[in-house]
Amino acid sequence: MEQRGLDGDAGPFGRPHRPLIGAAPGTVSTGDTLSIKVHQALSAALSLTDRKVILSDTGNFPTDLYIAQGIVDALDRGLELRCVAPEEIEAHMTDEIAVLMLTEVDYRTGRRHDMAHLSRIAREQGIVTLWDLAHSAGAFPVDSAAHADFAVGCTYKYLNSGPGGPAFIAVPDAVADRIDPALPGWLGHAAPFDFDRDYRPAQAARRFRIGTPPILQMAALDAALDAWDGVSMQDVRSRSLALSQRLIAGVEADCPSLTLASPREDAHRGSQVSFRHPQAYAICQALIAHDVIGDFRAPDILRFGITPLYIGEAEIDAAIATMARIMQDRLYEDPRFQTRQAVT
Ligand SMILES: *Cc1c(COP(=O)(O)O)cnc(C)c1O
Repeated sequence: MEQRGLDGDAGPFGRPHRPLIGAAPGTVSTGDTLSIKVHQALSAALSLTDRKVILSDTGNFPTDLYIAQGIVDALDRGLELRCVAPEEIEAHMTDEIAVLMLTEVDYRTGRRHDMAHLSRIAREQGIVTLWDLAHSAGAFPVDSAAHADFAVGCTYKYLNSGPGGPAFIAVPDAVADRIDPALPGWLGHAAPFDFDRDYRPAQAARRFRIGTPPILQMAALDAALDAWDGVSMQDVRSRSLALSQRLIAGVEADCPSLTLASPREDAHRGSQVSFRHPQAYAICQALIAHDVIGDFRAPDILRFGITPLYIGEAEIDAAIATMARIMQDRLYEDPRFQTRQAVT
């Protein structure tokens, strides 16, 4: 089997020219989980600066913030994690900030940061950038090489590698070569099969390998990526926006008790549409029972991922009709939809 990975993958799972995350050849390492990649990337980013403040936003995914706080506590050198509202990020980008650590698309609302703009300001202010592309990779065109010192993400959301699929870290060579990895594993060694007593980092992004990657999940990712062969991310984005607008218009017309939680303006939204309702959990359970699969996100969000490679107008229209029936007939009041499961 030909071994492949994301564009820019440093191998052994590399297939060079897939334009999914906009990384240059040899600048990506795939494996582990995203939580681990956030740890690697943030540790590395902090090693490039003497400043003390990590700037993030309150909409960031919990693991990113937990990992950051864990690093602050473990290093015990006066670092601070500062979380502000997403709209206030720009105002807080001063020369006090060491690392700007953001997830481009908010997992709850789908609100999208202007990555190019914020990264340009960061560069002017001498701030190292760390972008989490969990809800960007496979959702719309991404140019990580142009805008991120460190980019990380998972492959089991829009890239469909399956639950627990490997994560990735993308770091341009000029940055990667300055890093002593915080997790120096044997597979990130310059010559892993020499089994040297002393660690020497491998070239560039290869040094972000840690240990044996999950081979079965890598095979699943490899198969999942076949779906992207010959696909233009611009086309995916246009279709995603058209389908998102259709879902918003249909739900607003037929389910007036749901309120749009996502930005209405296309440029400020990723490839998901979210609505709020006090009964969001039960509505989501009722939808799933009727074969419309969304997610509930606490406290009151119903989230729908828009994936144009797999769904089209027919699925959107069916979802709207099903939702309208659930709301009109109050099917969500059924006790079996009201009991909260462990995984939502
Ligand atoms: C999905 C997601 C994660 C999940 O991390 P895992 O270690 O893969 O469970 C982390 N961060 C963000 C921003 C996410 O959206």
